[in-house]
Amino acid sequence: MINDTLLTAVEDELRRGPWRLRFADEVEARFEEDTQHQRSRSMVVAGLISAIIYCLFLINDHSFRPDTFTTALTLRVGVMLPFGLPILWWVYRGVSPAQRETLMASTVIVATVISCLIFAESTVPYSYLDVFSFGLILLVGNIVYSLRFNYACVSSAICIFIILLFVLSYDPMPPEAKRLAIFTIIAQALFTLVANYRFEQSERTSYLHVLKEKIRAGYYLKDNQELSRMSVTDPLTNLANRRQFDTVFPVRWQEATDKGLCLGLVVIDIDHFKAYNDYYGHPQGDECLRQVATAMQANSRDADLVVRFGGEEFVVLIANASPEAAKPAAERIRHNVEALEIPNHGVSAQSVVTVSVGVAVLYPKVSLAPAELLSQADEALYEAKRQGRNRVWVASAIDSSSGDSAIDGLSVSA
Ligand code: GH3
Ligand code: MG
Ligand code: MG
Repeated sequence: MINDTLLTAVEDELRRGPWRLRFADEVEARFEEDTQHQRSRSMVVAGLISAIIYCLFLINDHSFRPDTFTTALTLRVGVMLPFGLPILWWVYRGVSPAQRETLMASTVIVATVISCLIFAESTVPYSYLDVFSFGLILLVGNIVYSLRFNYACVSSAICIFIILLFVLSYDPMPPEAKRLAIFTIIAQALFTLVANYRFEQSERTSYLHVLKEKIRAGYYLKDNQELSRMSVTDPLTNLANRRQFDTVFPVRWQEATDKGLCLGLVVIDIDHFKAYNDYYGHPQGDECLRQVATAMQANSRDADLVVRFGGEEFVVLIANASPEAAKPAAERIRHNVEALEIPNHGVSAQSVVTVSVGVAVLYPKVSLAPAELLSQADEALYEAKRQGRNRVWVASAIDSSSGDSAIDGLSVSA
């Protein structure tokens, strides 16, 4: 589900009020998905603790009604554990929400049956006092497991029914004691169900608030990422903009200085673009800029930064560029633009859009400023224009220790 719809659904649930426990289907599915893992694990831990305490009641069985100790031992250890432990393992491994609640509720019901069998088996006077402890089993299901409210209600009702069957048919128990025991157990069921309802209600309400904030935080993050991307991207060509170049260039410069690597800069300017604009109009000029940008981007490596520097001027920052590699790279850019064969009748009937390219490559040194590379590439571009345009001009090899460079270029294009 997309976040917009989910947010609306969550807000609807919050408006609906906390007394309804089940959410609308989409939110309910999300709730289960987000809480299932943690819930299964905490139920299993609760189940293990309850199993240990259930078996510890053997101490009580032994001292309270020794006549049925063997039965108690068989039922608690020989029946309850083999029934309950696999269920805990199953829930731990992951089952559907309905199966999880049903399985856990079934352990409560079976524990009730077993406790009733142990109690009914004994003929010891006052064995019936045990009935007053049966509320503990309801407490396990409704509070310790915190079964979902509807499962807690059904399992409590079944347990009370079973207890009633055993208690009412147990003759040694005085009627007054039966009445008190049944009343106590029903009251315990009701109290624990109220607590169970409130647990689930507050769990669900907190979940809705947290989910709402999470969705909103996701929006803010997305908005911020989009704003950051926009601030460093040229909207017309989708290339990096001057701001991105100003951030990345000093970083690449420093990296090259540290690693002793060459850094190359290619400056590209569309030839006679004013004439193109004048002839075809500004919108067509924009389209031409986009096509030229795409051709340059297609030609560059992932590590290169292709930038719309401004107007009809572009730069490509080439990391780890040897002079031998930078020159053909620049020539490829020039050739690819020419190969687009975009007519430029603003110049002449045969003209196509071309670019002039200035290239500079140097080994950055601490004594040099990054602007040095830019100015060398600019001068090379100027020379390419002066030499007749549609050509690549390379600034001469640099003595980076002195910072000297001379335009001693090489036209690679006629
Ligand atoms: P040269 O070969 O010497 O570079 O000549 P030129 O005509 O390309 O250079 P000039 O600097 O005279 O003109 C650049 C033109 O680029 C002027 C301006 O109309 C156009 N231009 C700059 N930015 C944009 C833009 O975003 N869209 C369009 N359509 N045109 C632009
Ligand atoms: Mg130009
Ligand atoms: Mg220009």
